[in-house]
Order: sequence, then C-alpha cells, then structure tokens
Amino acid sequence: MGKTIFIAVVSVILMALPASVALAQGDIQIVSQSIESEFRDNIKAGISLKSGAEITEVEFFYRVAGQVATSRNVADFEPGTTVEAAFSINQTEIYFPPGTELEYWWKATDANGNSVKSDKQTYLYFDERYEFNILSNERVSLYWYSGSDKFGQALFDQANKGLDQLETNVNIVVEQPIKIFIYGNHNDLLNAIAVGAQEWTGGQAFAEFGVVVMGVSPGSLDWGLKATTHELTHLVIHQATDNPYGDLPRWLDEGLAVYNENPDRLDSQFRSSFKEAVSADRLMTLQTLSSSFPADPDAANLAYGESGAIVKFVIDTYGPEAMHTLLDIFSEGALYDKALQQALGVTMRELDNQWRESLGVPPLSAPEPAAGGETPAADSAQAEPAATSALVVASPAPPEKSSKNKPAGNLPCLAGALPLLFLTGLVWFKRPKSA
Ligand SMILES: [Zn+2]
Repeated sequence: MGKTIFIAVVSVILMALPASVALAQGDIQIVSQSIESEFRDNIKAGISLKSGAEITEVEFFYRVAGQVATSRNVADFEPGTTVEAAFSINQTEIYFPPGTELEYWWKATDANGNSVKSDKQTYLYFDERYEFNILSNERVSLYWYSGSDKFGQALFDQANKGLDQLETNVNIVVEQPIKIFIYGNHNDLLNAIAVGAQEWTGGQAFAEFGVVVMGVSPGSLDWGLKATTHELTHLVIHQATDNPYGDLPRWLDEGLAVYNENPDRLDSQFRSSFKEAVSADRLMTLQTLSSSFPADPDAANLAYGESGAIVKFVIDTYGPEAMHTLLDIFSEGALYDKALQQALGVTMRELDNQWRESLGVPPLSAPEPAAGGETPAADSAQAEPAATSALVVASPAPPEKSSKNKPAGNLPCLAGALPLLFLTGLVWFKRPKSA
C-alpha cells in the first residue's frame, strides 16, 4: 500500500515537471534544457523552445553563485517557431576554478513580443578528469585524488585548524563554505588553473568563488599543510573584507596568511632572514610593506616574514577584537592611517615604532622620504585595485576592470610558490615589474 502511494506521488511529480518548466507565459514553451562542460575548455548550455509565433531572441543569463554581477548573453539559434538555442562559456577566455557554482536561466522572446523566462537553476562546474575523494563539513570541503586517506585527512584537519585559528585570533568566521582542490602534482595544478599561469604558481585562492586550488604531491605534505592554510586564510580574509574601493595593505593581507600558518611561531622558512634583519636594523617599514612586495627573492622572503611578525604583534598586543575591527574598517574602504587610528589608536608610523621597540630596534628617525622608485606612497598604492599589484600582474588573473563576463582577479600567492621555486630554480624574479 505504502509503496503504491509512493510510486503514484513520484509519477505525479514527473508529469508535473515539464509543465512547471514551461511556465506558459504567452505562447512560448520550453521543451527541454541541457548543460554540460569540459573542464577548462567550455560550459555548454542548450534549450529547445516552441512557440505559436516566430522566436526572435533567446538570451542566456548566468552568474557565479553568491556574486551580484550577472552575465547576459545572446544565444545562437535559427529563428523559427521551433528552435534549438545554445550558448557556450569559453573557459579558455573566462576561467572558472573547479567547484564553481553557476546560477543560470534563459529568456526567449517571440515576434509578438511574448517572452518566457526559465526557472533559475544551479550548475556545479567540476573537473571530471580526476576521481576526487571528498572530506566535508559545514565550513569546508577538501577534494583530492592522489595520496592516501591519511594524506587527505591531514589536509582537511589542517584546513579546519586554520579556520579555528582565524575564529580565535582574528574573530572571523567563514560565511560561505569553502572548497579546496588538491591536485596531485605541480603539472596537474598548472593544467587546472588558467592557461598561461606562471610556472611558479604553487596554488591560488579564488576568493570570489570560495575556492582554493593547490598542487600538493603526497611527498610534500608538510609544505602542503602550510601553503593550503596560507591560501585558505587569504580567501577567508578577502571574503570578510570584500570592498570595491580599496584593498588591504599587503603586510596585513600576507601577514595574516603567514601568521595563520603557525600563530605560535614564525615559520622556519622566514625566521632566519627576519632575525638577521632585526639584528642588523634592516627591517622594511610598514609603509614599504603596504604595497607590492619586492621582486628579489631574499627581500620578498623578508617581506613575508616581517608581515607575519607584525600581524602577530598586533594580535598579541591589541587582541583579536581589534584585529577584527581593523579588517572591518578596511572593508569599508578606509585609508591605511585612518583605519589603524580607528582600530588601534595609532598611525602606521606609530605602530611601526611600537613594533620596532618590542624587537629592540631603534625607532624610525625621520618621516619617510617622498615616494619614488620602488616605494610608492601608501595612499597612491591603495588607490589602485588589488589586481594591479606586481603579484597579480605576474599572474594569469583576468583584467581587473571585469566586464559582466569576467569575474574579478584572483589571488596568486608568491609565498606558496617559494618552495617550488627553490626546487626547480625557476627565474621568477625576471618577470616584468608592476606597471
Ligand atoms: Zn599570500
């Protein structure tokens, strides 16, 4: 008896579906729809329509779930009373990371001016070339295909630890669940991120998509744990501070990522050069660290280490709530000095001197010389969107002035790339300087 009722209900739903999809406004009927993709190549959507009058226009709309910008596109089709329309999102021009969730819908119009709009649907764009294992909870999902269960579990646990630390130390919680894709080696990674990515890329955080893509071989788990935490931190911080006017000073952005790799102690990768700079009084100023980091590998390493140390100083001295407030103020587009004064009660220079004092380094003697050469003034650097920084220029990020079709720039990370550089000896520092 129960079974019969169940079957009856199912058949009613199945019969009801085409009718609900057809939404007979005017005379146009939606007969069927399809969507499929080939990762990093295309996403193809199609629709069959019938109408009493000639269908003259078919449009395909899509947006990345959670984003406001919608892409409106004219579909290809032969006008008629029965049409097969199609639209393809060319993934060699517009890159979406694996795990991107698209919302899409169609609109068709006939010669009488009747139109029909399909229901909004969701499509999960995935990299089908690999059989990913998945570990997942309400905050984060980790996908991997190379390496043991233990390998995946270690990365998943570390990701959760990183999120816990951000909650405790920065007072920030994940708003949208995050997906982390672990590719099994560097080559697979390069074949999964945008075509033309820098050889040195070790991983990327796509804040707008809620996705982190990493290349971690089972033999480099230790590096993978740190690098994944680093990129994950960028993503969570960027989601929390997203604003159209400005961006975080680089020392804060990178510093939080470095700090979160290990909140107790600066990672060994940065420790010795940082200690050397402290004892030789060769620390870069906060103002210098507010814009693009140096291209020279040693100087870049120091810049990352210093940034991690400053962030630790701010959190240890002012507390998680103050750090949270600082990020909040930046997310409203405040200037650097103003944000620091509001959140911590000090200017950038005063903070710099407090920090130097804590390290036993003499205070800055005089105001910094006017901007020139490689040290742009904080304000002028801040006026530009993040995507114009050297790191992004060196990357395959889409143009920062994104059209409806092109989501905003992603966030490649030099720190994640360093171990690869040192292993492969790639001359990444020869890349063109920031414009
Ligand atoms: Zn970074």
